[in-house]
Amino acid sequence: MLFASTKLPHDKVFDFSRRVEQMPKGRQAPQHPWPKVFDAVFLGAATQIPSLLQIEAECRRGALAKRIGPVSDDTIGYALQRQSPEPVFTLTCEVARRLKRNGVLRSDWSRGLVVAAVDGIEICRSFLRCCNACLQREVQHKVRGELRTDIQYYHRIVAAVIVSTPFPVPLGIRFQKQGEAEVPCALALWKDLVDQLGPRFVDLLVGDAIYLQAPFVKQVERLGLDWAFTLKENQPELLREAQRFTGGPPATVQSGPKQELRCWHLPQVDWPVADRWVRVSKRFASTTNGQSPSARMASSSRKARPTWRWRAPTSTPPILNWVPFPQPSSINSAAADGASTRRSFRPSPPPATSNISPSTKAPPWSC
Ligand SMILES: [Zn+2]
Repeated sequence: MLFASTKLPHDKVFDFSRRVEQMPKGRQAPQHPWPKVFDAVFLGAATQIPSLLQIEAECRRGALAKRIGPVSDDTIGYALQRQSPEPVFTLTCEVARRLKRNGVLRSDWSRGLVVAAVDGIEICRSFLRCCNACLQREVQHKVRGELRTDIQYYHRIVAAVIVSTPFPVPLGIRFQKQGEAEVPCALALWKDLVDQLGPRFVDLLVGDAIYLQAPFVKQVERLGLDWAFTLKENQPELLREAQRFTGGPPATVQSGPKQELRCWHLPQVDWPVADRWVRVSKRFASTTNGQSPSARMASSSRKARPTWRWRAPTSTPPILNWVPFPQPSSINSAAADGASTRRSFRPSPPPATSNISPSTKAPPWSC
């Protein structure tokens, strides 16, 4: 068999082919064995081939012809439908553990931390085709110029991805079920990941503002994860409190040839709805070429209740020689950053974070 005789590069480090070969099989005596189907999908995805039909074409006479050989998209679909996803999830976690042991999940910008991002995306939609697992909703759309309402079928997934690496390393995905929101789906995914990888596998979990919800944060901390989530209008009291203290001069300024970064760090800010304190950091980037500035505000974990707090100023901040910067439209810009994060799964380095003891120092991974 081709796969037994061909030593792929990933076999040397991960023993990949043997692990795939040992997975429980979903079909009895198939014409195309599971490792062949798996490799077709794996290599097709790794080379960003966008559909099973195109993978079939590449296997027949294209880039995968020599390594995989002919296999139809129907066969691939049939095999995948009958294969249990749990062993694939386990395999992904084994690869991730090996990567961590080999020390490649960290990078300079993350300052030695293994950083994972969580996010949800919609991966397909159709008015015509559906499967048993499809979500559905009523959507108004135009058909031949006439507005009509139809049921649209779609899927949403939540993905967990290591982002402190030169390229994103996926840890796992979970499909949202009908009636299940993104945040509970993400929590279920992380529970499975922590079961497989342990609570200290990831140093920091980052995510969009949708994850900055008191119940989710509580559960994430129960899993032993530190976190940093974008702060936006969905937490109005915390945002308002943070804005009060970041209206003055920044704690640090970094000037480069193309842009200037201004950073504010608030070690403890009251988060009333969660009855706790969190650290908040804001990063404001202005370019020297006339492009619009962008800003981002994030909050992060703080488990112990401190003995003091940042109070809202009742007058001009008591800072001598204070020269006000132009007030950035920080929140709107932050929302834009969050949207680009959602699409690409490649968030920029997190601007703030974690459960460090109370200090006015900037977190080591911000600015
Ligand atoms: Zn479906």
